[in-house]
Amino acid sequence: MFSEKWDSIVLTRDWHCKDHVSFAKNHNLPNFAPFVYCSPVVNDERKIESTLWPVHCIEDTEGADIAPSLQAVLRKHPEIVLVNKGYLKDREYYSAFCDIWDDHNTELHEILQQDGIDEVVVVGLALDYCVKNSAISAAKLGYKTTILKKYTRAIDNHKDSLRRLAKEFEYYGVILDES
Ligand SMILES: [Zn+2]
Repeated sequence: MFSEKWDSIVLTRDWHCKDHVSFAKNHNLPNFAPFVYCSPVVNDERKIESTLWPVHCIEDTEGADIAPSLQAVLRKHPEIVLVNKGYLKDREYYSAFCDIWDDHNTELHEILQQDGIDEVVVVGLALDYCVKNSAISAAKLGYKTTILKKYTRAIDNHKDSLRRLAKEFEYYGVILDES
């Protein structure tokens, strides 16, 4: 690994089809409209209130590409792993480990297990969605989990929202490193 500090580095990205359930356009609703998702699992009555998004990260398009500066790093370091999420059209994913229903898993946990990883550090976007849910998944799976606040940003930066977020991290045992 190019850095002595990390035993494993994983990049994750959304990888959606055009008719993905999380796109406001596919429901004829405005971007960022609140939305109640119904579980796609047979005989599962669960519902989750969340948000609809502008069309983003369509598979095999520039919108889903890794940022050019990171692509250069990837070319130099093929040992860095790339994990796609959000590729099943009937369900939303925030966590890089699984869909919001905890029903479909990406290969991330398996990769970390193969590498003998027991501690996960999460950075990226956005703190209150994908970073938060990836970190909570990691903590639930038994990894010692830290978010580096300096290297992430929330969509909702309201003080109260950030305070609520910090409480959730505490509840799940996720460390928010503010240094
Ligand atoms: Zn997405």
